[in-house]
Amino acid sequence: MTDLAPSAPRQRVLSGMRPTGALHLGHYHGALKNWVRLQSAYDCFFFVADWHALTTHYQHREGLEQSVYDMVVDWLAAGIDPAQATLFIQSRMPEHAELFTLLAMSTPSSWLERMPSYKDMVAENRELATYGFLGYPLLQAADILIYKAAFVPVGEDQAPHVEVTREVARRFNHLYAPLLPEPQALLTETSRLPGLDGRKMSKTYGNAIAMRDAPEVVAEKVRRMQTDPQRVRRGDPGEPERCPVWALHKVYADSDTRAWVESGCRSAGIGCLDCKQPLIDAIHDEQAPWRARADELLADPKKVHWIVEVGTERARAVARKTLREVRGAMGLDY
Ligand code: SF4
Repeated sequence: MTDLAPSAPRQRVLSGMRPTGALHLGHYHGALKNWVRLQSAYDCFFFVADWHALTTHYQHREGLEQSVYDMVVDWLAAGIDPAQATLFIQSRMPEHAELFTLLAMSTPSSWLERMPSYKDMVAENRELATYGFLGYPLLQAADILIYKAAFVPVGEDQAPHVEVTREVARRFNHLYAPLLPEPQALLTETSRLPGLDGRKMSKTYGNAIAMRDAPEVVAEKVRRMQTDPQRVRRGDPGEPERCPVWALHKVYADSDTRAWVESGCRSAGIGCLDCKQPLIDAIHDEQAPWRARADELLADPKKVHWIVEVGTERARAVARKTLREVRGAMGLDY
């Protein structure tokens, strides 16, 4: 874990999320919770990566706008504070595209072709053999470098993307002028939340609980969860380690509840519905403040648009300054 002690002036953190629409608890525990934590310690720039979404889903234009704003509502509902963090939409920033183009001139294509995910994904799906998908790590580099971000919060599997950004910055600084700081990966503790079936929580698997699912929907989803397959009757003892409900208890329950589940399950002292109730209650408690904030925002959609407007203009001022320097360094300031 990186030390989060604030320093003056606050160093910049950059992070983006593809617009997948309403977020689920896996997004919250995997990223958003961390963003909320980072925003008071760093100068955080959080953006909707809608161009990135098009690198893999370029035919899906329907519903994009709705997905963007549903996601921003969830960010705000989770506690992202626009007074502390700058929120913006990537496609509103043509400056990113210009820096991407300028960096592309000197970036060897082999750096992009060797990215671990590229070959595998293209081999699986020929529709991804596009220039946009190949260039996606370079676009990401432009997203980061245009704000001179000091840190990029990543899970370990994304570290190669930060590494290529560092290489791109080094090459630019060597060829033209030392303008672009190399960002550091901010390896942060996040939890990979299991879904209702024990696999990773994901919309694709249909095993998700949305951040703003209504309380009765959450209760129904949890009550219908599979349990230990060997616990067929109420009187059969079970084994929590075989049960996806237990995987969620590990995230949501306090130590007393966990001890109650373990002994009650193994001795058949509790039924599975009894066991699920504290989980339902814990998710309801977690969601309550999100729902209150989201209701307020949904009643005033202009406010959400305004927050994004202000953030986009704030980001643009920084991006333009970097671009002026980059153009100058490349002899394009005429
Ligand atoms: S008692 Fe709880 S942990 Fe045990 S099988 Fe039932 S739901 Fe799973």
